[in-house]
Amino acid sequence: MTATRVLVLNSGSSSVKYQLLDMADGSRLAMGLVERIGEETSRIKHTLLADGGSTRERTGPVPDHSAALKAVAAELDGDGLGLDSPELAAIGHRVVHGGLTFTAPTVVDDAVLREIERLVPVAPLHNPANITGIRTARQLRPDLPQVAVFDTAFHTTMPEYAARYAIDVETADAHRIRRYGFHGTSHAYVSRKTAALLRRTPDEVNVIVLHLGNGASASAVAGGVCVDTSMGLTPLEGLVMGTRSGDIDPAVIFHLSRVAGMSIDGIDALLNKKSGLVGLCGDNDMREIVRRTDEGDQRAQLAFDIYVQRLKKYIGAYTAVLGRVDAVTFTAGVGENSAPVRAAAVAGLEGLGLAVDPGLNAVRSENPRLISPEGSRVAVAVIPTDEEREIAQQVYALVKD
Ligand code: ADP
Repeated sequence: MTATRVLVLNSGSSSVKYQLLDMADGSRLAMGLVERIGEETSRIKHTLLADGGSTRERTGPVPDHSAALKAVAAELDGDGLGLDSPELAAIGHRVVHGGLTFTAPTVVDDAVLREIERLVPVAPLHNPANITGIRTARQLRPDLPQVAVFDTAFHTTMPEYAARYAIDVETADAHRIRRYGFHGTSHAYVSRKTAALLRRTPDEVNVIVLHLGNGASASAVAGGVCVDTSMGLTPLEGLVMGTRSGDIDPAVIFHLSRVAGMSIDGIDALLNKKSGLVGLCGDNDMREIVRRTDEGDQRAQLAFDIYVQRLKKYIGAYTAVLGRVDAVTFTAGVGENSAPVRAAAVAGLEGLGLAVDPGLNAVRSENPRLISPEGSRVAVAVIPTDEEREIAQQVYALVKD
């Protein structure tokens, strides 16, 4: 029997998301989530997608990631899809920060694990959970390839002048301070799918990808290669996000410290958790914000306008970076679902060759689609992202021979 299945694990600080895919036909066999790890009321939700589909849910204490992964293995086992199945080819792990070392998916051994650990200072919120996930999976199936797929990898092609901050070179290098970018798996997948939608190959097209989820980032992709992206050393830079500020004058931090007497941890929490849409209007769900603006809510309107202004700035900047743009593509929760955000982000950019057809923009669909008027100079597209599938494909391509 050939092993064609890949289990994709996305271990966050208090959650583990997983999907089991069969790369023989691309089908999704099972998916699920363990959340609130470490609390009394942890929740496991497991969905079997094969055989017509069914969902099981239960709550109870899951003390740590090791217990979470064992619970995932038990759920899969219950459906005859356990980790000991000979059809399982590999386990793919989403790892947020791969620094400059990891430019491609990598089979994990002790040296790789040490290097991912070495990157913890630049990704303190994310890499520790990813490492725990890998360690536990290795204990469960020591003989199986464990492959790390890095959020930063797609952006390692950025030229030095896009990746380097204009700060003292020695200081920056001593602390590995540079722009790494994130959401790379999504930007890679969506830019490639955009080329397919345009019936071209990735090397023929220049695309601006707008990944607008709770976290949000933009990238400029020239001929399939990332040349700039909006997130930086951490996922805080760039677009306005659900709870993160995106770009601000760094002197705001000195000001909050010196004048408002805030601690560094307090400022960190302010900019990462209490800013962005939530800081501006109290909500970070775009559906709720649009509903409030429809009712004439001024705070929600201002939050929406600030969000859109930032998007326009990045579309303009990346048009300049790319020189020629073939498509602007919206993806992730907001990008795939919010017609008002897409319309507003492109409004007034006719000079850049951009327009949205209101009828096409209003269509709700889970398929990749164009929303620009026929014959537009620059295509505007909506492409649902699928990070798990992209991870599974990259993992399978690495281990299948
Ligand atoms: P994450 O970054 O957590 O992976 P997602 O890509 O799932 O996020 O995006 C989540 C966000 O998408 C929500 O916070 C919400 O703002 C937005 N969203 C989801 N569905 C809709 C919808 N139907 N209309 C507008 N916005 C939506």
